[in-house]
Amino acid sequence: MPHSSAAAARHGLTNITETVACIALPLPLPDLQVVNAYVIHDRAGVTLIDPGWAYPPSETALVQALDTLGFTVGDVRAIVATHQHWDHYSLGVKWRDQFGIELMLGREERHSIAAFIQNPDVVHPYQIGKLIEAGAPNLASEIAALSWEPYERDVAFTPPDRWLDDRDVIDCGATQIVVRATPGHTRGHIVLEEAGQGVIFTGDHLLPTITPSIAFERAPGEFPLRSYINSLHLVLQLPDAVMLPAHGSTVGTTHARARQLISHHETRLNQVGELIAAGNSSSYEVASKMLWTRRERSLDELSVVHQMTAILEVQSHLDLLALRGEASSAVMDNVRRFTVW
Ligand SMILES: [Zn+2]
Repeated sequence: MPHSSAAAARHGLTNITETVACIALPLPLPDLQVVNAYVIHDRAGVTLIDPGWAYPPSETALVQALDTLGFTVGDVRAIVATHQHWDHYSLGVKWRDQFGIELMLGREERHSIAAFIQNPDVVHPYQIGKLIEAGAPNLASEIAALSWEPYERDVAFTPPDRWLDDRDVIDCGATQIVVRATPGHTRGHIVLEEAGQGVIFTGDHLLPTITPSIAFERAPGEFPLRSYINSLHLVLQLPDAVMLPAHGSTVGTTHARARQLISHHETRLNQVGELIAAGNSSSYEVASKMLWTRRERSLDELSVVHQMTAILEVQSHLDLLALRGEASSAVMDNVRRFTVW
């Protein structure tokens, strides 16, 4: 169905190929304002990837963009989320519950959904203990005292209809997408390969300007940074493709970005190793000596939640150094202390 480019722009709609479109949807978050939903469409209907947050302005924008493409909610045959974070998954839960659309998610996300259902009132329960171990007990208390923001309350967070495993194939009518497990950002994160058109829907595994966090999960796997780096190498084993990320521009390619991110983490591993060699021993001490964000802020200039992710990122890097035999650690008075040799 033809549509005017003015209408497309108004609805944040970009046609990537004849059958793939990107819809920029607003988010209720203070730092991250847009999520890219993707539509794979043919005459028979629509498959939606990462339809965003269950948030009325986002839902309205998605319905309008589908309308511009010539579809209604009733044409959506499946919703696939790259991972369980609410800016990707929660509108999918709402539309599954409301319209009966089949909802799919990577199988390893089941741990964090189960952890939420058991303990829905605490915002970052797993991270509290990790911050104490990192030598940041005051920050741990501040994180423990957080309550949900108004837009985070009553978000439905329940399992999908279909759990996806590596190499599963999803039938999108005229095209098919192949699931590739890419644990790291979350334990059950997946990317979706559409080899026929040379595109990969990368979710938050590859983002064009952001280094994806590995510290926002309720029930992470063991050594998420190791998983993440392995998943970057997996991308290099797949054919190079156009990177269709969940946040940011759609013009990059997967191999170039995966190489940049691998290099970023190698640099950071060296940096934290040097700070341990210089006499800092806890993740908190190391994080306090580093500059954060593109604006190069010190740790205490960051918000409480960003301090948490910064310290836990350092801890993941130190854990990986220890795993590689380049550092050792011991817990003393509840704090993990690292040494390098
Ligand atoms: Zn995410």
